[in-house]
Amino acid sequence: SRQFTRPLNDLANQFNTLLSAVAGAERVFHILDEQEEKDEEGAKQLGEVKGAVSFKHVTFSYTDGQQTVKDISFEVNPGETVALVGPTGAGKTTIINLLSRFYDADSGEILLDNQNLSSIKRSSLRQHTGIVLQDSFLFQGTIRENIRYGRLEASDEEVVLAAKEANAYSFISKLPEQFDTVLEQDHTGISQGQKQLISIARVMLANPSILILDEATSNIDTITEIKIQEALERLMQGRTSFIIAHRMNTIKNSDQIIVLDQGKLIEKGSHQQLLKEKGFYHEMIEQVKSNEVSVR
Ligand code: ADP
Repeated sequence: SRQFTRPLNDLANQFNTLLSAVAGAERVFHILDEQEEKDEEGAKQLGEVKGAVSFKHVTFSYTDGQQTVKDISFEVNPGETVALVGPTGAGKTTIINLLSRFYDADSGEILLDNQNLSSIKRSSLRQHTGIVLQDSFLFQGTIRENIRYGRLEASDEEVVLAAKEANAYSFISKLPEQFDTVLEQDHTGISQGQKQLISIARVMLANPSILILDEATSNIDTITEIKIQEALERLMQGRTSFIIAHRMNTIKNSDQIIVLDQGKLIEKGSHQQLLKEKGFYHEMIEQVKSNEVSVR
């Protein structure tokens, strides 16, 4: 997922630099907005988003002559959870990059509520898309500022409520400075898992219709891990969610599993449907099972 996090990390670095230069977070936002790529002529603001997503024959290459995503088609209903699975390099992150318009497809169409992504203002698309990554994107500033980054006009009460919904409140309220705790550049003093909880609170506050999750595989203690899972489940309620999934439970419970291999969509369906097909997915599950046995 290195490629995926790169544009976001760039943004984070930019943000840190700017924060030390100017006072208010809102200023920073305007500056970042102005630097965004230009929209297509006549691009529109999204109204209410239901969250139906469809890929129609989408093909994409990062470099000429080497297709990374090949003729991919699938449909997602509003509120569904989609697990993207497949080996490293299969194209999972690229699908997410295309959906968030970090890159544009070479051919085919990506539709959100039946509108082509290119007919939507980028800022509007980003507003309706919430992203939770393994390496959460926090900047130097207070916990309150970091959560409020999800929606700058949110009140202090709304920030606290989002923290509660994200299971972040209990650890924040135990810190001497609570929501005024300053997260230093290296984020010393709070754990990896706690950083995740803060970034979940931020997305709760933003209240997007589309969610993108890159499932954590890093070593987080069990109790925090349970808190994260619970918060993510709450966050996913009623939103269309795309998960680059690693945990068996997440994959099994998703409405739709999309299996990718070498840039091609090779299988799609629910866990039960794919098991019956006895194809790639079935084989993958069998392998996981036998690994579990051999580990014991
Ligand atoms: P996954 O998320 O399934 O591991 P990716 O979508 O990250 O797969 O990568 C799919 C393929 O595209 C890989 O072969 C990868 O090396 C290549 N790739 C990803 N990002 C870039 C990029 N920015 N430039 C060139 N090739 C890339």
